[in-house]
Amino acid sequence: MKVSLLRCDSYEYAMEQLRSSLKSFSHLFTPGDSVLVKPNMLSARRPEEAVTTHPAILKAVLIFLKDLKCHAMVADSPASGSFQRVAEKTGIKDVCEEMNVPIFELDQPITVAGQIYKKINLDRRIFEVDKIINVAKLKTHSQMILTLAVKNTFGCVPGLEKSGWHMRCGTNENFAAFLVDLHRLVNPTLNIVDGVVGMEGNGPANGKTKRFGVIALSTNGFVLDFVLCKRLNVDPLLIYTVRESLLRNLIVEHDVEGDWTGQIQLPITTPVLPVPEALRMLARRLARSPRISKTKCVRCKICEERCPAKAINIDQMKINYEKCIKCYVCHEVCPQGAISLVRRIF
Ligand code: SF4
Ligand code: SF4
Repeated sequence: MKVSLLRCDSYEYAMEQLRSSLKSFSHLFTPGDSVLVKPNMLSARRPEEAVTTHPAILKAVLIFLKDLKCHAMVADSPASGSFQRVAEKTGIKDVCEEMNVPIFELDQPITVAGQIYKKINLDRRIFEVDKIINVAKLKTHSQMILTLAVKNTFGCVPGLEKSGWHMRCGTNENFAAFLVDLHRLVNPTLNIVDGVVGMEGNGPANGKTKRFGVIALSTNGFVLDFVLCKRLNVDPLLIYTVRESLLRNLIVEHDVEGDWTGQIQLPITTPVLPVPEALRMLARRLARSPRISKTKCVRCKICEERCPAKAINIDQMKINYEKCIKCYVCHEVCPQGAISLVRRIF
């Protein structure tokens, strides 16, 4: 198992550099293969905001597939906003038009069984194509702490069902178990993490952009995420999805190609130490809670609509903390950065 860490400081050079690196993965694809490329299209944000996969990275992947005579397509299901608007604002639609590649929303669920969760609705196209390339963004994540290759496949769950999973799972540990199930079902042939410019602090949508200067590639998303944690000097046990992968023995032996290392400021929601089972309830009580800024809020009600616990009432500008499960979806989807995460005295 190999993980390649490609140093790359600018999107201006990313395309050429990535194209030459991708050549070592050509043997995975056969002419005529249908290949679904799954970028991070979280919400309608500009490429320089580093919330979504940069179009230059996507373009390099599409050129690679075209050279191999594969039939590429681009698809995702955004966490908020209309698919069309997200595709336009992120620059992803322009790249697809330029490359003459179809782009569509993942909105046609079929039910499949995971290892732990036995009924998961995923878009049927995931199982109809020959191969999948997962193109994630290197970012922090207020709930999972980091979002890398494994978390990116959450976008294969159609529409509002994504919010429902937060409620169904209830805890960060269960949600990570679900994400690991999901990534195994999607089973990408190749995973790429765009870390040329990513996000630190309170990601995945409202943190600070940061130039990490790396593009990471591997056929194994679990190993890729583990290696990125190590190279970012982050304890893998702090990252819920990586911890779950370790518990399931999914981090197989691997070689790392490339000497890149980096630093990242984690979200304020990061536990100081991995929390032992006995202290989970207390840790949950002490975890930060969302708070709405009345001055920043434009009352679009996206958070209210997406809150899986139905804990938000924007007309009254209130969050019901008895109902709130601290999934931070509201913080993730708010387009105004109007939801902060604060420690409450209880
Ligand atoms: S907090 Fe954000 S998402 Fe919620 S209504 Fe206000 S602006 Fe919209
Ligand atoms: S209020 Fe925010 S953090 Fe609490 S359950 Fe709703 S979306 Fe999740």
